[in-house]
Amino acid sequence: MTQKLYIKTYGCQMNEYDSDKMADVLRATSNMALTDKPEDADVILFNTCSIREKAEEKVFSDLGRVRPLKLAKPGLLIGVGGCVASLEGGTIMKRAPYVDVVFGPQTLHRLPQLLQACRDTGRPQIDISFPEIEKFDHLPAPVLNLHGLTEGAGQTFVSIMEGCSKYCSYCVVPYTRGEEVSRPFADVLHDVRVLIGQGVQEITLLGQNVNAYCGTMEDGEMVDFAFLVQAIAALAGIERLRYTTSHPREMTQRLIDVYATTPKLVSHLHLPVQSGSDKILAMMKRGHTVLEYKSIIRRVRAARPDICITSDFIVGFPGETEQDFEATMKLIDDVGFDNSFSYLYSPRPGTPAAEMKDDTPHEVKAQRLKRLQDRINEQEDAVARSMLGSVQRVLIEGRSKKDTLELAGRTGNNRVVNFSCAAAKSQAMIGRFADVKITQVVRHTLRGELLSEPC
Ligand code: SAM
Ligand code: SF4
Repeated sequence: MTQKLYIKTYGCQMNEYDSDKMADVLRATSNMALTDKPEDADVILFNTCSIREKAEEKVFSDLGRVRPLKLAKPGLLIGVGGCVASLEGGTIMKRAPYVDVVFGPQTLHRLPQLLQACRDTGRPQIDISFPEIEKFDHLPAPVLNLHGLTEGAGQTFVSIMEGCSKYCSYCVVPYTRGEEVSRPFADVLHDVRVLIGQGVQEITLLGQNVNAYCGTMEDGEMVDFAFLVQAIAALAGIERLRYTTSHPREMTQRLIDVYATTPKLVSHLHLPVQSGSDKILAMMKRGHTVLEYKSIIRRVRAARPDICITSDFIVGFPGETEQDFEATMKLIDDVGFDNSFSYLYSPRPGTPAAEMKDDTPHEVKAQRLKRLQDRINEQEDAVARSMLGSVQRVLIEGRSKKDTLELAGRTGNNRVVNFSCAAAKSQAMIGRFADVKITQVVRHTLRGELLSEPC
Protein backbone atom coordinates (compact mmCIF):
# COMPACT_ATOMS: atom_id res chain seq x y z
CA MET A 1 0.00 0.00 0.00
CA THR A 2 1.23 3.51 -0.79
CA GLN A 3 2.34 5.35 2.32
CA LYS A 4 1.91 9.10 2.69
CA LEU A 5 4.80 11.50 3.16
CA TYR A 6 4.51 15.09 4.37
CA ILE A 7 7.55 17.39 4.04
CA LYS A 8 7.85 20.89 5.46
CA THR A 9 10.74 22.88 4.02
CA TYR A 10 12.43 25.89 5.62
CA GLY A 11 15.03 28.22 4.13
CA CYS A 12 16.83 28.34 0.83
CA GLN A 13 16.47 26.82 -2.63
CA MET A 14 19.07 24.21 -1.71
CA ASN A 15 16.66 22.97 0.95
CA GLU A 16 13.76 22.93 -1.48
CA TYR A 17 15.89 20.94 -3.86
CA ASP A 18 16.85 18.53 -1.07
CA SER A 19 13.17 18.10 -0.13
CA ASP A 20 12.44 17.12 -3.71
CA LYS A 21 15.21 14.54 -3.49
CA MET A 22 13.82 13.14 -0.21
CA ALA A 23 10.47 12.69 -1.93
CA ASP A 24 12.22 11.09 -4.94
CA VAL A 25 14.18 8.59 -2.88
CA LEU A 26 11.23 7.58 -0.69
CA ARG A 27 8.97 7.19 -3.71
CA ALA A 28 11.51 5.01 -5.51
CA THR A 29 12.46 2.79 -2.56
CA SER A 30 9.43 2.79 -0.29
CA ASN A 31 6.48 3.60 -2.57
CA MET A 32 5.69 6.81 -0.69
CA ALA A 33 3.57 9.59 -2.16
CA LEU A 34 3.49 13.19 -1.01
CA THR A 35 0.55 14.63 0.87
CA ASP A 36 0.05 18.25 1.88
CA LYS A 37 -1.86 17.23 5.02
CA PRO A 38 0.34 16.25 7.98
CA GLU A 39 -2.63 14.50 9.62
CA ASP A 40 -2.78 12.01 6.70
CA ALA A 41 0.94 11.24 6.75
CA ASP A 42 2.76 8.04 7.76
CA VAL A 43 6.06 9.93 7.73
CA ILE A 44 6.53 13.64 8.50
CA LEU A 45 9.84 15.28 7.62
CA PHE A 46 11.04 18.73 8.60
CA ASN A 47 13.81 19.95 6.29
CA THR A 48 15.26 22.69 8.45
CA CYS A 49 17.32 25.88 8.16
CA SER A 50 19.68 27.29 10.79
CA ILE A 51 20.99 30.34 8.95
CA ARG A 52 19.26 32.67 11.44
CA GLU A 53 18.02 32.04 14.96
CA LYS A 54 14.36 32.66 14.05
CA ALA A 55 14.37 29.93 11.41
CA GLU A 56 15.79 27.47 13.94
CA GLU A 57 13.26 28.31 16.65
CA LYS A 58 10.38 27.97 14.19
CA VAL A 59 11.29 24.32 13.66
CA PHE A 60 10.87 23.51 17.34
CA SER A 61 7.52 25.28 17.60
CA ASP A 62 6.31 23.42 14.45
CA LEU A 63 7.54 20.13 15.89
CA GLY A 64 5.41 20.76 18.97
CA ARG A 65 2.40 21.08 16.68
CA VAL A 66 2.75 17.59 15.18
CA ARG A 67 3.26 15.90 18.53
CA PRO A 68 -0.50 15.25 19.01
CA LEU A 69 -0.53 13.49 15.62
CA LYS A 70 2.08 11.08 16.88
CA LEU A 71 0.04 10.39 19.99
CA ALA A 72 -3.03 9.71 17.84
CA LYS A 73 -1.15 7.50 15.35
CA PRO A 74 1.71 5.63 17.06
CA GLY A 75 3.12 4.23 13.76
CA LEU A 76 3.76 7.75 12.49
CA LEU A 77 7.48 8.51 12.08
CA ILE A 78 8.84 12.04 12.46
CA GLY A 79 12.18 13.03 10.96
CA VAL A 80 14.25 16.19 11.18
CA GLY A 81 16.74 16.87 8.38
CA GLY A 82 18.70 19.81 7.02
CA CYS A 83 20.96 22.31 8.76
CA VAL A 84 19.38 22.33 12.26
CA ALA A 85 19.72 18.54 12.28
CA SER A 86 23.37 18.88 11.25
CA LEU A 87 24.10 21.38 14.02
CA GLU A 88 22.04 19.94 16.85
CA GLY A 89 22.18 16.18 16.16
CA GLY A 90 20.84 14.16 19.07
CA THR A 91 19.99 17.22 21.16
CA ILE A 92 16.90 17.58 18.94
CA MET A 93 15.57 14.42 20.58
CA LYS A 94 16.24 15.93 24.01
CA ARG A 95 14.01 18.90 23.18
CA ALA A 96 11.52 16.83 21.18
CA PRO A 97 11.70 13.18 22.36
CA TYR A 98 9.01 12.11 19.88
CA VAL A 99 11.40 12.68 16.93
CA ASP A 100 12.39 9.34 15.38
CA VAL A 101 15.07 10.21 12.82
CA VAL A 102 17.67 12.98 12.56
CA PHE A 103 19.57 13.21 9.27
CA GLY A 104 21.82 15.81 7.60
CA PRO A 105 21.81 17.39 4.13
CA GLN A 106 24.46 14.88 3.00
CA THR A 107 22.67 11.78 4.31
CA LEU A 108 19.16 12.31 3.00
CA HIS A 109 19.64 9.41 0.54
CA ARG A 110 19.91 7.10 3.57
CA LEU A 111 16.39 7.99 4.73
CA PRO A 112 14.80 4.67 3.65
CA GLN A 113 17.31 2.70 5.77
CA LEU A 114 17.03 5.10 8.70
CA LEU A 115 13.22 4.91 8.73
CA GLN A 116 13.32 1.12 8.39
CA ALA A 117 15.86 0.78 11.22
CA CYS A 118 13.62 2.90 13.37
CA ARG A 119 10.61 0.68 12.62
CA ASP A 120 12.63 -2.53 13.18
CA THR A 121 14.30 -1.53 16.43
CA GLY A 122 11.83 0.98 17.83
CA ARG A 123 14.82 3.18 18.56
CA PRO A 124 15.56 6.67 17.20
CA GLN A 125 18.18 6.92 14.43
CA ILE A 126 20.73 9.69 13.85
CA ASP A 127 23.02 10.12 10.83
CA ILE A 128 24.45 13.58 10.32
CA SER A 129 27.76 12.54 8.77
CA PHE A 130 29.29 14.12 5.64
CA PRO A 131 29.94 11.24 3.23
CA GLU A 132 31.59 13.11 0.35
CA ILE A 133 29.04 13.68 -2.45
CA GLU A 134 27.87 10.06 -2.00
CA LYS A 135 24.23 11.07 -2.04
CA PHE A 136 24.14 11.82 -5.76
CA ASP A 137 25.14 8.23 -6.53
CA HIS A 138 22.14 6.95 -4.58
CA LEU A 139 19.41 9.25 -5.76
CA PRO A 140 16.99 8.19 -8.49
CA ALA A 141 17.31 9.93 -11.89
CA PRO A 142 15.74 13.39 -11.86
CA VAL A 143 12.08 13.50 -12.88
CA LEU A 144 10.49 16.78 -13.84
CA ASN A 145 7.40 18.06 -12.03
CA LEU A 146 6.96 14.82 -10.15
CA HIS A 147 6.39 16.43 -6.79
CA GLY A 148 6.03 20.05 -7.80
CA LEU A 149 8.02 21.19 -4.76
CA THR A 150 10.52 23.27 -6.68
CA GLU A 151 9.50 23.39 -10.29
CA GLY A 152 7.38 25.69 -12.35
CA ALA A 153 6.55 24.13 -15.71
CA GLY A 154 9.42 23.81 -18.16
CA GLN A 155 12.14 24.64 -15.67
CA THR A 156 13.97 22.92 -12.87
CA PHE A 157 17.06 22.92 -10.65
CA VAL A 158 20.22 20.84 -10.91
CA SER A 159 22.57 20.76 -7.95
CA ILE A 160 26.18 20.90 -9.13
CA MET A 161 28.10 21.31 -5.88
CA GLU A 162 27.55 21.01 -2.16
CA GLY A 163 28.81 22.81 0.89
CA CYS A 164 31.00 25.84 1.38
CA SER A 165 34.66 26.38 2.28
CA LYS A 166 34.54 30.16 2.62
CA TYR A 167 33.87 30.30 6.38
CA CYS A 168 32.43 33.81 6.49
CA SER A 169 32.66 34.77 10.14
CA TYR A 170 28.88 34.90 10.69
CA CYS A 171 27.73 31.83 8.78
CA VAL A 172 26.89 28.26 9.82
CA VAL A 173 26.78 26.74 6.34
CA PRO A 174 30.34 25.28 6.29
CA TYR A 175 29.53 23.54 9.59
CA THR A 176 26.09 22.27 8.57
CA ARG A 177 26.72 21.32 4.94
CA GLY A 178 30.43 20.59 4.98
CA GLU A 179 33.18 21.88 2.70
CA GLU A 180 32.77 22.58 -1.02
CA VAL A 181 32.55 19.43 -3.13
CA SER A 182 31.69 19.49 -6.83
CA ARG A 183 29.83 16.77 -8.72
CA PRO A 184 31.70 15.20 -11.64
CA PHE A 185 31.14 17.05 -14.95
CA ALA A 186 29.66 13.97 -16.70
CA ASP A 187 27.11 13.41 -13.89
CA VAL A 188 25.83 16.98 -14.15
CA LEU A 189 25.58 16.74 -17.94
CA HIS A 190 23.78 13.40 -17.61
CA ASP A 191 21.13 14.92 -15.29
CA VAL A 192 20.64 17.86 -17.64
CA ARG A 193 20.19 15.55 -20.65
CA VAL A 194 17.65 13.42 -18.75
CA LEU A 195 15.70 16.57 -17.90
CA ILE A 196 15.85 17.88 -21.49
CA GLY A 197 14.35 14.51 -22.52
CA GLN A 198 11.43 15.31 -20.20
CA GLY A 199 10.81 18.70 -21.79
CA VAL A 200 12.85 20.99 -19.55
CA GLN A 201 13.96 24.15 -21.33
CA GLU A 202 15.33 26.17 -18.44
CA ILE A 203 17.80 24.95 -15.85
CA THR A 204 18.99 26.68 -12.67
CA LEU A 205 22.38 25.40 -11.54
CA LEU A 206 22.36 25.21 -7.79
CA GLY A 207 25.01 25.34 -5.10
CA GLN A 208 25.93 27.25 -1.97
CA ASN A 209 28.75 28.86 -4.01
CA VAL A 210 27.87 27.66 -7.44
CA ASN A 211 30.64 29.54 -9.24
CA ALA A 212 33.27 27.76 -7.11
CA TYR A 213 32.41 24.66 -9.17
CA CYS A 214 35.49 22.60 -9.98
CA GLY A 215 34.43 19.30 -11.53
CA THR A 216 36.42 16.34 -12.76
CA MET A 217 36.03 15.14 -16.33
CA GLU A 218 36.23 11.45 -17.22
CA ASP A 219 39.92 11.85 -18.26
CA GLY A 220 40.72 13.41 -14.88
CA GLU A 221 40.96 16.97 -16.16
CA MET A 222 39.36 19.62 -13.94
CA VAL A 223 36.87 22.10 -15.38
CA ASP A 224 35.56 25.35 -13.93
CA PHE A 225 32.09 26.87 -13.74
CA ALA A 226 32.54 28.94 -16.93
CA PHE A 227 33.25 25.72 -18.85
CA LEU A 228 30.22 23.96 -17.35
CA VAL A 229 27.88 26.84 -18.21
CA GLN A 230 29.06 26.87 -21.82
CA ALA A 231 28.78 23.09 -22.12
CA ILE A 232 25.19 23.08 -20.86
CA ALA A 233 24.22 26.10 -22.97
CA ALA A 234 25.51 24.22 -26.03
CA LEU A 235 22.98 21.40 -25.50
CA ALA A 236 20.05 21.45 -27.92
CA GLY A 237 16.81 21.81 -25.97
CA ILE A 238 18.19 24.18 -23.35
CA GLU A 239 16.81 27.66 -23.94
CA ARG A 240 17.75 29.39 -20.71
CA LEU A 241 20.30 28.92 -17.97
CA ARG A 242 20.42 30.45 -14.49
CA TYR A 243 22.60 29.87 -11.46
CA THR A 244 22.46 30.61 -7.77
CA THR A 245 24.12 31.45 -5.39
CA SER A 246 27.41 32.89 -6.50
CA HIS A 247 30.28 34.43 -4.58
CA PRO A 248 32.19 37.56 -5.65
CA ARG A 249 35.55 35.85 -5.02
CA GLU A 250 34.70 33.21 -7.63
CA MET A 251 33.51 35.66 -10.28
CA THR A 252 36.37 35.02 -12.71
CA GLN A 253 36.96 36.97 -15.92
CA ARG A 254 36.33 33.68 -17.78
CA LEU A 255 32.84 33.55 -16.26
CA ILE A 256 32.21 37.25 -16.94
CA ASP A 257 33.19 36.70 -20.58
CA VAL A 258 30.54 33.98 -20.87
CA TYR A 259 27.92 36.75 -20.55
CA ALA A 260 29.20 38.23 -23.81
CA THR A 261 29.22 34.97 -25.74
CA THR A 262 26.31 32.94 -24.34
CA PRO A 263 22.88 34.54 -24.78
CA LYS A 264 21.21 31.52 -23.13
CA LEU A 265 22.74 32.63 -19.82
CA VAL A 266 20.05 34.96 -18.45
CA SER A 267 20.46 38.69 -17.81
CA HIS A 268 20.20 38.28 -14.07
CA LEU A 269 23.06 37.83 -11.62
CA HIS A 270 22.51 37.21 -7.92
CA LEU A 271 25.82 38.21 -6.36
CA PRO A 272 25.64 38.69 -2.57
CA VAL A 273 27.76 41.53 -1.23
CA GLN A 274 26.46 41.69 2.40
CA SER A 275 27.93 45.15 3.17
CA GLY A 276 29.30 48.25 1.46
CA SER A 277 31.97 48.88 4.11
CA ASP A 278 35.47 47.48 3.66
CA LYS A 279 35.89 47.30 7.42
CA ILE A 280 32.77 45.15 7.82
CA LEU A 281 33.61 43.02 4.77
CA ALA A 282 36.99 42.25 6.37
CA MET A 283 35.35 41.41 9.71
CA MET A 284 32.93 39.16 7.83
CA LYS A 285 35.94 37.48 6.14
CA ARG A 286 34.33 37.92 2.73
CA GLY A 287 37.71 38.07 1.01
CA HIS A 288 36.99 41.06 -1.26
CA THR A 289 36.66 44.84 -1.04
CA VAL A 290 33.86 47.15 -2.17
CA LEU A 291 36.03 48.33 -5.07
CA GLU A 292 36.59 44.74 -6.22
CA TYR A 293 32.84 44.08 -6.07
CA LYS A 294 32.12 47.21 -8.12
CA SER A 295 34.79 46.21 -10.62
CA ILE A 296 33.02 42.85 -11.13
CA ILE A 297 29.69 44.61 -11.70
CA ARG A 298 31.29 47.06 -14.16
CA ARG A 299 32.83 44.20 -16.16
CA VAL A 300 29.64 42.10 -16.12
CA ARG A 301 27.69 45.13 -17.35
CA ALA A 302 30.23 45.72 -20.10
CA ALA A 303 29.66 42.13 -21.24
CA ARG A 304 25.85 42.25 -20.76
CA PRO A 305 24.52 45.83 -20.58
CA ASP A 306 20.91 44.93 -19.64
CA ILE A 307 21.81 42.65 -16.73
CA CYS A 308 19.84 42.92 -13.45
CA ILE A 309 21.94 42.57 -10.31
CA THR A 310 20.46 41.29 -7.05
CA SER A 311 22.22 40.72 -3.75
CA ASP A 312 22.04 39.65 -0.11
CA PHE A 313 22.72 42.21 2.66
CA ILE A 314 23.34 41.71 6.36
CA VAL A 315 22.45 44.76 8.44
CA GLY A 316 23.70 45.30 11.99
CA PHE A 317 26.81 43.13 11.88
CA PRO A 318 28.84 43.54 15.14
CA GLY A 319 30.68 46.86 15.07
CA GLU A 320 28.66 48.31 12.14
CA THR A 321 28.71 52.09 12.68
CA GLU A 322 26.46 54.68 11.08
CA GLN A 323 29.34 55.39 8.70
CA ASP A 324 29.61 51.71 7.71
CA PHE A 325 25.87 51.57 7.09
CA GLU A 326 26.01 54.74 4.96
CA ALA A 327 28.73 53.06 2.90
CA THR A 328 26.28 50.19 2.24
CA MET A 329 23.59 52.70 1.20
CA LYS A 330 26.11 54.35 -1.14
CA LEU A 331 26.97 51.01 -2.71
CA ILE A 332 23.25 50.37 -3.26
CA ASP A 333 22.95 53.75 -5.02
CA ASP A 334 26.09 53.16 -7.06
CA VAL A 335 25.16 49.68 -8.27
CA GLY A 336 21.37 50.07 -8.60
CA PHE A 337 20.35 46.66 -7.30
CA ASP A 338 17.14 45.02 -8.31
CA ASN A 339 15.05 42.99 -5.81
CA SER A 340 17.46 41.77 -3.07
CA PHE A 341 17.36 39.86 0.19
CA SER A 342 18.28 41.70 3.38
CA TYR A 343 18.48 40.41 6.92
CA LEU A 344 19.30 41.61 10.40
CA TYR A 345 22.49 39.97 11.58
CA SER A 346 21.69 36.91 13.70
CA PRO A 347 24.50 35.58 15.92
CA ARG A 348 25.00 31.88 15.31
CA PRO A 349 26.59 29.81 18.07
CA GLY A 350 30.02 28.47 17.15
CA THR A 351 30.77 31.12 14.51
CA PRO A 352 33.57 33.66 15.11
CA ALA A 353 31.22 36.66 14.73
CA ALA A 354 29.10 35.43 17.63
CA GLU A 355 32.08 36.26 19.89
CA MET A 356 32.47 39.83 18.53
CA LYS A 357 31.40 42.83 20.60
CA ASP A 358 28.01 44.00 19.39
CA ASP A 359 26.76 47.15 21.12
CA THR A 360 24.42 48.60 18.50
CA PRO A 361 20.88 48.70 19.93
CA HIS A 362 18.32 46.50 18.17
CA GLU A 363 16.09 49.50 17.32
CA VAL A 364 18.97 51.19 15.51
CA LYS A 365 19.63 48.03 13.49
CA ALA A 366 15.92 47.68 12.69
CA GLN A 367 15.75 51.30 11.47
CA ARG A 368 18.78 50.71 9.25
CA LEU A 369 17.21 47.58 7.79
CA LYS A 370 14.01 49.49 6.99
CA ARG A 371 15.95 52.29 5.28
CA LEU A 372 17.89 49.78 3.23
CA GLN A 373 14.78 47.84 2.23
CA ASP A 374 12.94 51.04 1.25
CA ARG A 375 15.83 52.02 -1.01
CA ILE A 376 16.01 48.57 -2.61
CA ASN A 377 12.22 48.67 -3.16
CA GLU A 378 12.58 52.03 -4.94
CA GLN A 379 15.24 50.56 -7.17
CA GLU A 380 13.14 47.47 -7.81
CA ASP A 381 10.26 49.69 -8.92
CA ALA A 382 12.59 51.70 -11.15
CA VAL A 383 13.76 48.48 -12.87
CA ALA A 384 10.12 47.41 -13.34
CA ARG A 385 9.16 50.80 -14.80
CA SER A 386 12.14 50.70 -17.16
CA MET A 387 10.66 47.49 -18.62
CA LEU A 388 7.35 49.17 -19.54
CA GLY A 389 6.73 48.94 -23.28
CA SER A 390 9.52 46.40 -23.79
CA VAL A 391 8.96 42.98 -25.31
CA GLN A 392 10.11 40.18 -23.03
CA ARG A 393 10.56 36.52 -23.77
CA VAL A 394 8.96 34.62 -20.90
CA LEU A 395 8.85 30.99 -19.91
CA ILE A 396 5.20 30.32 -19.01
CA GLU A 397 5.53 28.60 -15.65
CA GLY A 398 1.86 28.17 -14.81
CA ARG A 399 -1.25 30.07 -13.86
CA SER A 400 -1.14 33.47 -12.19
CA LYS A 401 -1.33 33.23 -8.40
CA LYS A 402 -3.89 36.04 -8.20
CA ASP A 403 -6.13 35.04 -11.10
CA THR A 404 -6.09 31.45 -12.26
CA LEU A 405 -7.66 32.44 -15.59
CA GLU A 406 -4.40 34.26 -16.37
CA LEU A 407 -0.94 32.86 -17.08
CA ALA A 408 2.34 33.74 -15.36
CA GLY A 409 5.64 33.82 -17.18
CA ARG A 410 9.17 34.57 -16.02
CA THR A 411 11.46 36.96 -17.85
CA GLY A 412 15.19 36.43 -18.28
CA ASN A 413 15.84 39.02 -15.55
CA ASN A 414 13.66 37.00 -13.16
CA ARG A 415 10.47 39.09 -13.20
CA VAL A 416 7.04 37.49 -13.16
CA VAL A 417 4.65 38.78 -15.84
CA ASN A 418 0.92 38.00 -15.63
CA PHE A 419 -1.10 38.10 -18.82
CA SER A 420 -4.39 36.89 -20.13
CA CYS A 421 -4.84 34.34 -22.85
CA ALA A 422 -7.77 32.59 -24.50
CA ALA A 423 -8.94 29.85 -22.13
CA ALA A 424 -8.99 27.27 -24.92
CA LYS A 425 -5.27 27.46 -25.52
CA SER A 426 -3.90 28.55 -22.16
CA GLN A 427 -3.27 25.06 -20.70
CA ALA A 428 -1.23 24.01 -23.73
CA MET A 429 0.98 27.09 -23.36
CA ILE A 430 2.29 26.20 -19.89
CA GLY A 431 5.94 25.18 -20.00
CA ARG A 432 6.59 27.00 -23.29
CA PHE A 433 8.23 30.30 -24.23
CA ALA A 434 6.32 33.28 -25.61
CA ASP A 435 6.87 36.99 -26.28
CA VAL A 436 4.94 39.37 -24.04
CA LYS A 437 4.77 43.16 -24.19
CA ILE A 438 4.99 44.79 -20.74
CA THR A 439 1.96 47.05 -20.35
CA GLN A 440 1.66 47.79 -16.63
CA VAL A 441 3.56 47.68 -13.33
CA VAL A 442 1.40 46.68 -10.35
CA ARG A 443 3.48 46.95 -7.18
CA HIS A 444 6.39 44.64 -7.99
CA THR A 445 4.50 42.51 -10.49
CA LEU A 446 4.35 43.15 -14.20
CA ARG A 447 1.36 42.80 -16.45
CA GLY A 448 1.69 42.10 -20.11
CA GLU A 449 0.04 41.34 -23.40
CA LEU A 450 0.76 38.16 -25.31
CA LEU A 451 2.37 38.92 -28.67
CA SER A 452 3.48 35.60 -30.08
CA GLU A 453 2.26 32.05 -30.19
CA PRO A 454 4.30 30.02 -27.72
CA CYS A 455 7.06 27.73 -28.94
N1 SAM B 1 26.99 31.60 -0.30
C1 SAM B 1 26.25 32.77 -0.51
C2 SAM B 1 27.21 33.96 -0.35
O1 SAM B 1 27.89 34.02 0.64
O2 SAM B 1 27.30 34.80 -1.15
C3 SAM B 1 25.08 32.92 0.42
C4 SAM B 1 24.43 31.72 1.03
S1 SAM B 1 23.73 32.01 2.62
C5 SAM B 1 22.96 30.49 2.85
C6 SAM B 1 22.39 33.09 2.27
C7 SAM B 1 22.44 34.42 2.96
O3 SAM B 1 22.10 34.28 4.32
C8 SAM B 1 23.79 35.10 3.00
O4 SAM B 1 24.12 35.71 1.79
C9 SAM B 1 23.62 36.09 4.11
O5 SAM B 1 23.15 37.32 3.64
C10 SAM B 1 22.57 35.44 5.00
N2 SAM B 1 23.16 35.02 6.28
C11 SAM B 1 24.05 34.05 6.51
N3 SAM B 1 24.35 34.00 7.82
C12 SAM B 1 23.65 34.97 8.43
C13 SAM B 1 23.56 35.44 9.78
N4 SAM B 1 24.27 34.88 10.76
N5 SAM B 1 22.73 36.46 10.04
C14 SAM B 1 22.00 37.05 9.06
N6 SAM B 1 22.06 36.65 7.78
C15 SAM B 1 22.87 35.63 7.47
FE1 SF4 C 1 27.94 31.19 4.26
FE2 SF4 C 1 29.93 32.75 3.39
FE3 SF4 C 1 29.71 30.22 2.55
FE4 SF4 C 1 27.96 32.06 1.73
S1 SF4 C 1 30.17 32.04 1.32
S2 SF4 C 1 27.48 29.98 2.46
S3 SF4 C 1 27.72 33.32 3.53
S4 SF4 C 1 30.16 30.87 4.61
